Amino acid sequence: MSLHGQYDSRNIFALILNGDAPCYKIYEDEQVLAFLDVFPQSYGHTLVIPKSSQARNILEVEPAALSAMMAAVQRLTRIIVDELQPDGVQIAQFNGAAAGQTVYHIHMHIVPRWEGKEASEHGRGKAEAQELQALQARLVERISAQGGV
Ligand code: AMP
Repeated sequence: MSLHGQYDSRNIFALILNGDAPCYKIYEDEQVLAFLDVFPQSYGHTLVIPKSSQARNILEVEPAALSAMMAAVQRLTRIIVDELQPDGVQIAQFNGAAAGQTVYHIHMHIVPRWEGKEASEHGRGKAEAQELQALQARLVERISAQGGV
């Protein structure tokens, strides 16, 4: 019953938020953290998580945390589209293992898409550290050049 349950404060995103695990951070403010997915479905696959909420999924998340996360998703999607120039972009969110959820701290996926290029399977195939570092630098630089998101 992964759709229902207790928040595990040792989940990987909680560890990232606490500084106990690394991430390729793109952006952070008081309410959200955005970082690259290390098993990306496409080039530029980014995750956005609320910092203070202990919601596992959409059923539990506080409306204010949801609003802050979605507003950040929109701003970061604009940045990613400006920088990477994809043909499309998917915004996704999964609830419960049956729906494909693997990490139980609510998060949004930003997945840039290109014509004729299939997305990789969700959560499979780790990206090269060098590629992630270069992509992180590109997106951080774009945010900085724009004076923030
Ligand atoms: P979901 O399946 O919707 O719960 O999404 C969880 C996502 O987190 C997947 O796309 C994974 O590839 C990604 N992921 C898992 N561990 C990490 C990590 N340490 N850093 C970045 N992304 C991760």
